[in-house]
Amino acid sequence: MASPGRRLALGAVTLAADLRRVLGADRVSDDPLERHLYGKDAGVFRGRAALVVFPETTEEVAEVVRIAEEHRVPVVARGAGTGLAGGAVPEEPAVVVALTRMNRIWDVDLDDRTAWVGPGVINLDLSRETSPHGFHFAPDPSSQSACTIGGNVANNSGGPHCLLEGSTVNHVLGLEVVLTGGEVITVGGAAPDPPGLDLRGVLVGSEGTLGIVTKVLVKLTPNPPDVRTMLAAFGTVEDAAATVTGIIAAGIVPAALEIMDRAMVEAIENWLHAGLPVGAAAVLLAEVTGETATVEDEARTIVEIAQANSAREVRIASDEAERALLWKGRKSAFGAVAQTAPDYYLHDTVVPRTRLVETMGRIYEIAAKHGLAMMNVFHAGDGNLHPLIPFDSSDPEAWEKVQKAADEMVELCVRQGGALSGEHGIGREKRDLMPLAFGEDDLAAQACIKAAFDPSETFNPHKVLPRGTSCFDRAVPIPEGAWI
Ligand SMILES: Cc1cc2nc3c(=O)[nH]c(=O)nc-3n(C[C@H](O)[C@H](O)[C@H](O)COP(=O)(O)OP(=O)(O)OC[C@H]3O[C@@H](n4cnc5c(N)ncnc54)[C@H](O)[C@@H]3O)c2cc1C
Repeated sequence: MASPGRRLALGAVTLAADLRRVLGADRVSDDPLERHLYGKDAGVFRGRAALVVFPETTEEVAEVVRIAEEHRVPVVARGAGTGLAGGAVPEEPAVVVALTRMNRIWDVDLDDRTAWVGPGVINLDLSRETSPHGFHFAPDPSSQSACTIGGNVANNSGGPHCLLEGSTVNHVLGLEVVLTGGEVITVGGAAPDPPGLDLRGVLVGSEGTLGIVTKVLVKLTPNPPDVRTMLAAFGTVEDAAATVTGIIAAGIVPAALEIMDRAMVEAIENWLHAGLPVGAAAVLLAEVTGETATVEDEARTIVEIAQANSAREVRIASDEAERALLWKGRKSAFGAVAQTAPDYYLHDTVVPRTRLVETMGRIYEIAAKHGLAMMNVFHAGDGNLHPLIPFDSSDPEAWEKVQKAADEMVELCVRQGGALSGEHGIGREKRDLMPLAFGEDDLAAQACIKAAFDPSETFNPHKVLPRGTSCFDRAVPIPEGAWI
């Protein structure tokens, strides 16, 4: 009799054969190295793909889903694998559906300011394509030169410039999605405020747990007529945070407001030499966009607010090259940390902006209590914190400390009135912390949505909702007479 492992292996062979009949031999991989590589993302969790497939059309994705369901094997959608929360990491043997070949940009409608794009289009490629015509795709994750629009949609990603423009959900008008049974639906559309339930809103941010996105109707944003980028260096993180509060209180909503602490700036400068001032406790990067008169006025006010908060140095980027270099420095922060240690753990939580100063202080204390080094870079304008802890994962004690510190930091932020994740999603990483932020009934309601879309748990199982969450055994009983 075959052992369970052997039976799984035999199942994988027939599954692979069925998938190869649809996709051809070269687009279904059972190569061990590829299965290993497609079993991880840019975060700390590791899994293993049973098979990796590379569909090129919606019809092929639908066939893959149908075949996987016939074999009772789950599917995990994957873009570029830059996610940091383990969202694309299979938790059990699954077909990993790599969407990178579905990378066409078509139907760019400059009059309507929209474009239909494949989920595998790289974020920055879309802006590169439309910029010469005066438009860009506003969500700009720091990973934008690698991550895909499909991944942005699934994680409702943000980025430094989402303070003014809003995160991905504000820039997605419609979606084509493959659901259970290989059914293909289109939700939303170019018409404003379509009637009915907002399924587009439900699907954006659902982290591949409800279906696979195969086309996205994106909103294109006009390039701003003018821009000013300022850098201010402070003796304390508190002064930098107070400047952020002062700017917002003055009625200015900059395009971006980013803070980096001393350790972070040093890591970036050691690696890239982006022109950031080394030695300051905190560096604030602020950018305003709009008509020339407005940006000049706002830039002047921001400089005054920074000076009033004891800035040691304030400068305005003198040209596009200097501006680009400052942003290159900021957007390379995670890469810079990777130069300092074999691994790093990156947090992503949010607190109300008014709690930034107090929360930051306590986050430094948590790291110190566990004897951990820490660097900070954050989207200060919207209270989105990214403490980074460099460590060596081959040391089990270090990993244990990192996890303890991580949980304490998340708990602190939630207690401060914040959220579990600002932009990286829940995935595997924060799944078991969901009860910190949601009551049983909230979780049950979310589980009911999952069950309605995906009754057989085909799509990215064991993500987002903690194990055991069920819409059946936890749903709020309907009070008697509620229908009357
Ligand atoms: C250096 C670095 C900087 C980063 N900076 C930012 C930042 O500033 N802001 C930010 O928000 N994030 C940031 N991230 C996180 C990450 O880049 C984003 O979450 C990004 O949107 C993930 O896209 P991806 O294509 O890599 O998706 P993947 O990592 O491949 O997948 C992410 C999730 O999306 C699902 N998914 C992917 N494609 C589809 C699809 N077509 N249909 C359904 N589900 C799908 C996956 O199942 C998974 O749950 C950063 C990451 C790195 C490594």
